[in-house]
Amino acid sequence: MTPLPTRRRLASGKVRDLYEVGDDHLLIVASDRISAFERVFPTPVPDKGRVLTAMSAFWFGELADVLPNHLVVCDGPLVPDAVRGRALLVERLDMLPVEAIVRGYLTGRGYADYRGYGEVCGLALPPGLAESARLPEPIFTPSTKARPGDKDENIDFDTCVSVLGRALAEEVREASLELYRRGAARAAEQGLLLADTKFEFGTDSRGRLVLADELLTPDSARYWLADGHEPGLPQPSFDKQHVRDWLVDPASGWDCVSPLPPLPPEVVTATRDRYIEAYHRITGLSLADWPRDPA
Ligand code: ATP
Ligand code: MG
Repeated sequence: MTPLPTRRRLASGKVRDLYEVGDDHLLIVASDRISAFERVFPTPVPDKGRVLTAMSAFWFGELADVLPNHLVVCDGPLVPDAVRGRALLVERLDMLPVEAIVRGYLTGRGYADYRGYGEVCGLALPPGLAESARLPEPIFTPSTKARPGDKDENIDFDTCVSVLGRALAEEVREASLELYRRGAARAAEQGLLLADTKFEFGTDSRGRLVLADELLTPDSARYWLADGHEPGLPQPSFDKQHVRDWLVDPASGWDCVSPLPPLPPEVVTATRDRYIEAYHRITGLSLADWPRDPA
């Protein structure tokens, strides 16, 4: 973690650190930490924090017409040099206690629920869908936002309504589905499938719904290569494929229980290249040009 002596640190997740800036703003700093199976590797992946931050900033700009978002600036005097390129200054919001997940393909926990009960978050799906299959249409599958150490739980829409109220729950669902459709369309133009993703929302001082957190980054979304998509099998993740393949190979020596081992240099390099490639493909921009002028 990068200590920022003039800022109070509010929280640290697996990958990002959150600092207070006055009463109304936060600095969200993405590190180069990389996680797998809910744990963090001891070896950083250089530039990963820059990629995550640049990609969020790109998507906040790209999707700003869907609804307002929390991004204020990505550069300038309020962003300390030590974290320049890895930090977003955002409006501090009252976060909604749900994670707004949208799935366009059947994978991960969505697939596990479908196999068990034929439905995901109370939404019945046609029988006979294979793992990684494209869904007839994208579905909104919210979950609770657990405290650190607890597990998020999938909830059905009625439970989401009881937590948020009907009007807000419907607004979150419609915004999430639209953000997903727009994101998936752009990814598809670049040969990537947006399998699923998570959005987080908050409300501002006027009670307006605002998009927050990170947006359509490899840490909050699953991207797959469209070429070679093969329903019936788990699909390799575009970004963490090398890390996971290496980790589950017996040669890594990992026993599924111990802390994660250090990553070998060739896996770090291949993973770094993948993150940078994801940024270039999706945005059409060069990471070398990031951050640009204050937004
Ligand atoms: P994990 O490592 O599993 O992601 P985490 O979600 O606790 O853990 P982060 O994602 O690093 O860790 O933390 C970011 C936190 O900041 C989240 O709790 C998120 O809800 C919150 N957050 C994001 N945007 C805002 C905002 N504009 N105002 C207030 N809180 C925000
Ligand atoms: Mg998080």
